[in-house]
Amino acid sequence: MPEIKKVIHENRENIVKTRRDLHRIPEPAFTEKKTSAYVAEYLKKEGLALQTGIAKYGVVGTLDTGRPGKTLMIRSDMDALPISEQTGLAFASMHEGAMHACGHDGHMAMVLGAVTVLNKMRDKLNGTIKFLFQPAEEGPGGAKPMIEEGVMENPTVDYSIGCHVWPAIEEGTIGVKPGPLMAAMDRFDLKIIGRGGHGAMPHLCVDALEVGTQVINALQRIVSRQMNPLQPTVVTVGSFHAGTTFNVISAEAEMCGTTRTFDRNIWSSWPERMERIIRGVCESMGASYELEYVQGYPPLLNDDSMAQVVRRCAEEVVGRENVLEPEPTMGGEDMAFYLEKSKGCFFFLGVGREDCAPLHNPKFDFNEDVLLLGIEAYCRIALDLLG
Ligand SMILES: [Zn+2]
Ligand SMILES: [Zn+2]
Repeated sequence: MPEIKKVIHENRENIVKTRRDLHRIPEPAFTEKKTSAYVAEYLKKEGLALQTGIAKYGVVGTLDTGRPGKTLMIRSDMDALPISEQTGLAFASMHEGAMHACGHDGHMAMVLGAVTVLNKMRDKLNGTIKFLFQPAEEGPGGAKPMIEEGVMENPTVDYSIGCHVWPAIEEGTIGVKPGPLMAAMDRFDLKIIGRGGHGAMPHLCVDALEVGTQVINALQRIVSRQMNPLQPTVVTVGSFHAGTTFNVISAEAEMCGTTRTFDRNIWSSWPERMERIIRGVCESMGASYELEYVQGYPPLLNDDSMAQVVRRCAEEVVGRENVLEPEPTMGGEDMAFYLEKSKGCFFFLGVGREDCAPLHNPKFDFNEDVLLLGIEAYCRIALDLLG
């Protein structure tokens, strides 16, 4: 099928333009107004059935082949990050303080590129393809509210796919892995309440700062002393604030942090596990606390058979030697929610090269030629599943 490659290459200019247009107008989580309008306009021009305003700015374009068959969903995120761009690119962000530093501009350009190609090839397809664009992947998460608003129904989605540009693997490669790929990601906020007073009179006080340090130490022992060492987990306290000056004992201390795991059982055990330790330490020291523990994204678990399909198609795109099994990451992804509802696979598209800045860096950029590979992968997967 070299025809696919040909069609995609003929469309290169349009793909690059789409990516750059979107790169210029980055909008952080749940403010994706212009982005969403741009995407909707593109889908409308392609003649797809359109749903907009899902979970605020989410968009779904549906390609119904008119022939019975399965339903495939191809997903992109739309949100940018609150970062001031420093790439110096001609098409750099026009929105001060916002930037597509996680490649979501590329993700949208790929799914839109796939819309154009698959629309041309619709005679070769059966069933339905939903092209889904969601807000707020970077948090608090757009996938869950979109699912709650029914995007996985009418018709019910059988398969879900998506990908992320990935600097950890080389440009020109595709990373596919069955099973766990990305971690469950939660957030906690904790306030410790003691009794403040004079720095010379600790016996009259409950030092919230000191209790806080003990809580942090105790939380670090979850991973080292309670978890199976063969089961990767993370507990990070990312911020800790207490105290005002040298001779005052703190009345309060505040911290927030995140937990990570690939395991569903551990994931559901975190709130109770964390609270037990916090309660124990605080009680023993005479302090009280307020804990807000929010379960964020589930672990991202790829279906084995879908990973095989993606691998097979990726091999046709970049050659067998350039398809690799990437190391899983403790980073989180709300693609995980769709994979809980349907068979699916999330894969990595290599953008790594020597001078490549990491994701979320103000200098992040990638070679736009990889977008053609991503589009080809999407199209081949669609033809494989619905052809
Ligand atoms: Zn990101
Ligand atoms: Zn991202």
